[in-house]
Amino acid sequence: MRRSIITGNWKMNSTVAETVNLINGLLKAGAADSKGEVVVCPPFTSLESAGKLLKDSSIGLGSQDMSEYKSGAYTAEISAEMLLTLGVTHTILGHSERRQYHFETDDRVNRAAKVALEAGLTPIICVGETLDQRDSGDTEKTVGSQIEGTLAGFTADLLLRTVVAYEPVWAIGTGKTATPEMAEDVHRFIREKIAAIDKEAADQVPILYGGSVKPSNAGELLSQPNIDGALVGGASLKVDDFIGIINAL
Ligand code: PEP
Repeated sequence: MRRSIITGNWKMNSTVAETVNLINGLLKAGAADSKGEVVVCPPFTSLESAGKLLKDSSIGLGSQDMSEYKSGAYTAEISAEMLLTLGVTHTILGHSERRQYHFETDDRVNRAAKVALEAGLTPIICVGETLDQRDSGDTEKTVGSQIEGTLAGFTADLLLRTVVAYEPVWAIGTGKTATPEMAEDVHRFIREKIAAIDKEAADQVPILYGGSVKPSNAGELLSQPNIDGALVGGASLKVDDFIGIINAL
């Protein structure tokens, strides 16, 4: 049985006070009682407060990025060790907004993921094609190369501690969702690509879908055989919507 995971990516939303409210709302609404894993990823500035509130709960805490370096002269970077001291358990890497606005490459994601794993953090590695790439029939070429690049040099042991998120760029924050069949096709393809590294580990790697997931479409997406959870942006900022998605598990 693969793990099921619902992760909320809050992006650049929520002050410390808003984080406290949202997490208290989620705890009150029973987010910690989910059958699957639940992880919330507030901005860096809210991680300390979030970590204190989630300390005794089963809800994981993720950062939205982290440095590929361990320490040193890297102004504004945040290291794995710093995150660990705040109770962080997961880190999103290679989100399409980081790739688009901060020119992150597969190589950089690969290095950061290895540093995260060495520190004991679970990387959530994001891949996905743009609309142009899909329209030109290049979805598999794009996603395949992202998987090869971000997972280069991974052993079975590292794969077993890694989460992959398929997020078609054209579906993020647009209200357009891939149909369950479209998403499943790419998820199956991703699992086959991972199987080329290690077949047994590939069967265990959770592959999350992200892109305008909401309570009304979560059930159908999550019922696909290779969709093991969701990476949720906008809908993770509203307690009722996020709980609706968690309950769809
Ligand atoms: C995301 O940012 O990872 C995401 C999937 O956003 P949204 O759910 O808002 O499309």
